[in-house]
Amino acid sequence: MISTEIITIGDELLIGQVLDTNSKWIAQQLNKVGIDVCYKTTVGDVELDILNAIKLAFSRVSIVLLTGGLGPTKDDITKNTLCKYFDTRLVFDDETLSNVEQVLKNINRNINELTRNQAYVPEGATIIQNKMGTAPITWFEQDGKVLVSMPGVPFEMKWSMQEEVIPRLINFFPTSDSIQHLTFWVKNYSESALAMHLETFERNLPDNIKLAYLPTPGLVRLRLTGKDTDKDILSDSMSSQRKFLFDLLQDNILYEDDEALEYKLHNLFVNNGLTLSLAESCTGGRLASLFTAIPGSSQYFKGGVVCYSNESKINLLGVNKETIEKEGAVSLSVVNQLVDGACKIFNTDCSIAISGIAGPDGGTLEKPVGTVCIAVRYKDQVSSFHFCFSHNRESNILRSCNTAMSLLLEMIS
Ligand code: ATP
Repeated sequence: MISTEIITIGDELLIGQVLDTNSKWIAQQLNKVGIDVCYKTTVGDVELDILNAIKLAFSRVSIVLLTGGLGPTKDDITKNTLCKYFDTRLVFDDETLSNVEQVLKNINRNINELTRNQAYVPEGATIIQNKMGTAPITWFEQDGKVLVSMPGVPFEMKWSMQEEVIPRLINFFPTSDSIQHLTFWVKNYSESALAMHLETFERNLPDNIKLAYLPTPGLVRLRLTGKDTDKDILSDSMSSQRKFLFDLLQDNILYEDDEALEYKLHNLFVNNGLTLSLAESCTGGRLASLFTAIPGSSQYFKGGVVCYSNESKINLLGVNKETIEKEGAVSLSVVNQLVDGACKIFNTDCSIAISGIAGPDGGTLEKPVGTVCIAVRYKDQVSSFHFCFSHNRESNILRSCNTAMSLLLEMIS
């Protein structure tokens, strides 16, 4: 088994100023290629702590991945600490200097004394040029084990892992194991209810196939991961388990594959030339932000209205004033009118409208916090639904977005 420890470095991670998203992302990527992450450690920018963390990591795993502390400023001490650990020194590297100059040129900046220091690299290590930033990636080998130090800036780290580190790790630690993943998005179940429903299935899984539950508000992602030296035997075994899962969950499987819901819809809109508009009340534009975060969404996303007040629902989207007075802003009639209004003003094939009480205040006996109405429209088809989610504002917002996307996905596909 190739085991890994991820060490994230930075005072800001320890004082809670920055959330360590690097180790989460790295672990996900390694899992896909069958490299096990056994430990995660976070340390501050303190030499002794970093040295101890590396020593401990090397005593228990084969791969040690470090992120952070490679900047050109005084508080970034990872590079010097690595020199101390590997008993080496910093030497000037012309290739790294050219890369630093190029990276800075790309963003219209000139090299200065501090950024020039990035060209000092640990002697004896393999230096991998970072095309996204000024801090090079350093690769050390010791007794058949590997330590890689990467920048902490998330997009630089992601580039480093994807383009350089993962391919090199696979090469360095060749495995005869074939790895296969199957992912299923399951609706209508909480994580615990699903675990109970799948208890026997899970117990009867062969030893080389594992099941993971990855819940998101409103949906549970199930992942089957299989490992075997024989690729064909593994494929057969995974197909059998897939069939069992479909028998057990039937229509509750919304779709299969690793793509998040917004990406699934994005591809569907792009491939079928469909357009989308939104009318968002309690989600306050969160749904629009999910779609517009995806490059290329301008091909189908025509616009949305954050209709947070009754006036905006009436004046911008043509909701009937009497309907709001009679049934309330959180009602099926209102979301039906909102979805029609959005489709009309933006002239789109599809539309989603959401109105709800996200909380913590604003609930009544009749409509408690967590009451959410959603309407989806695809061409002339309109469906609307009434939900009672939770008492937590953030969870209600996310769940409303996920549920709305699931409903539209089902309507279109
Ligand atoms: P820089 O050249 O910017 O100094 P660096 O390699 O020294 O890069 P850090 O200084 O540790 O990296 O972090 C740079 C940025 O990346 C900071 O905004 C930091 O908060 C963020 N960052 C660092 N580590 C992580 C992490 N584990 N998860 C998420 N963000 C992180």
